[in-house]
Amino acid sequence: MTNIFEYAPAPESRAIVDIKPSYGLFINGEFVDGNGTSFKTVNPATEEVLAEVAEATDADVDEAVKAARRAYTRVWSRMSGAERAKYLYRIARIIQERGRELAVLESIDNGKPIKESRDVDVPIVAAHFFYYAGWADKLKYSGYGETPLGVAGQVIPWNFPLLMLAWKIAPALACGNTVVLKPAETTPLTALLFAEICQQADLPPGVVNIVTGAGDTGRAIVSHPDVDKVAFTGSTEVGKAIARAVAGSDKKVTLELGGKAANIVFDDAPLDQAVEGIVNGIFFNQGHVCCAGSRLLVQESVADEVMDRLKRRMATLRVGDPLDKNTDVGAINSAEQLAKIRELSQVGEDEGAERWSAPCDLPANGYWFAPTVFTGVSQAHRIAREEIFGPVLSVLTFRTPSEAVEKANNTPFGLSAGVWTDKGSRILSMANRLRAGVVWANTFNKFDPTSPFGGYKESGYGREGGRHGLEAYLKGADA
Ligand code: NAP
Ligand code: MG
Repeated sequence: MTNIFEYAPAPESRAIVDIKPSYGLFINGEFVDGNGTSFKTVNPATEEVLAEVAEATDADVDEAVKAARRAYTRVWSRMSGAERAKYLYRIARIIQERGRELAVLESIDNGKPIKESRDVDVPIVAAHFFYYAGWADKLKYSGYGETPLGVAGQVIPWNFPLLMLAWKIAPALACGNTVVLKPAETTPLTALLFAEICQQADLPPGVVNIVTGAGDTGRAIVSHPDVDKVAFTGSTEVGKAIARAVAGSDKKVTLELGGKAANIVFDDAPLDQAVEGIVNGIFFNQGHVCCAGSRLLVQESVADEVMDRLKRRMATLRVGDPLDKNTDVGAINSAEQLAKIRELSQVGEDEGAERWSAPCDLPANGYWFAPTVFTGVSQAHRIAREEIFGPVLSVLTFRTPSEAVEKANNTPFGLSAGVWTDKGSRILSMANRLRAGVVWANTFNKFDPTSPFGGYKESGYGREGGRHGLEAYLKGADA
């Protein structure tokens, strides 16, 4: 007789996706072989090789930029905003229609749980295209003029492959620019499926070009002399290198970089909700989130109670097969990222912080890291200062609101923060004092295309989303 309490997985079928053995580059509306070698993309949950993907050379990037320039001059910048909008609406609708396919493919190539790719990533991707489609014929009300910049070179990371693509491509196209985009090496497949969607939408050739490859391909894009605008999301280290590479040119640049957000819990907060927010803040997407609430600041009087409840909740998190609809925490995106998480966690132990990991059976193959929390962390510890970019939470305590503000702002980053309290007045005063681009109150990790997102300090500059997101792709009101 089967035990009724035995776990019954509910895996999403992968039959809906058609992964080809090899992929070329998407240049001028077609898939081409390119002049370089190829690299493999793997499923991080199984280490299965999914496909061979072309590695774009400097010459390939040059072809892509030329195609984007031709499409810009001859077609896209001449088209009325209302016509451009029709294409963006069409793309948005196809993304919705093919949503399950996109979500399954994203989970296979990236390792994120299907409930997130299905219920968070893909719906926001579609919403982003719908939102910017609406702006295409209303740019004169943007406050930033109506003149596009030209060709945008865009480089994105692996943590939200399709979502970062949407954040980059939707506003660029709405404003009349054309693009050359490079997805991350470990997660190229949904960008290549998006290329097929551009074909399906009859987007004029060259308006969107997708070139796959590693760091060198990214470097070729950002340093190409005929690229007018560079948009980058990724690490602060590479962001600084890009800022140096384009200094002295007249390229416009936006950088969305790392973070080390404080999630601040006051003693009057509804603690069960706060615990859900802490879990969502750091374990959503395996903690591979630039705005993750990776530093928990908890008021001393409730610290023990919050930690008890948090550990109890963490013990219920289901870690495993990303395609299982019950999975809460999926696979770490790559062996390289797993090594970085392990290394910094070891540093945490060596520095004297106390480590606790949720008890869970990790699959034998693939890249996995159990949800982990460090207590007894001090400001000087590396795990309190550096981005771990994994499911690892550092906990610090505070006594007064001023101490919470001082600790929260004591970081080179400034992307996001969370405040948990019953008092509206305290939310407002904290939001004014926290140096972070986004402050969430009694919630965390909520995104909407109408709301601008971006950082202060080493978290980068420029905003994506909302009316503010148009500024990065227009010449300005006086142009
Ligand atoms: P990364 O190493 O900086 O890579 C980002 C992208 O840049 C990838 O496509 C990468 O190619 C490419 N690249 C690498 N070196 C380059 C160079 N010299 N010139 C041009 N492009 C280059 O970052 P990651 O490890 O993929 O992503 C994690 C980081 O992104 C975290 O620090 C996170 O906080 C940040 N992030 C920020 C935001 C935000 O909105 N602020 C959002 C998401 C992530 P390869 O794939 O081949 O390495
Ligand atoms: Mg992959």
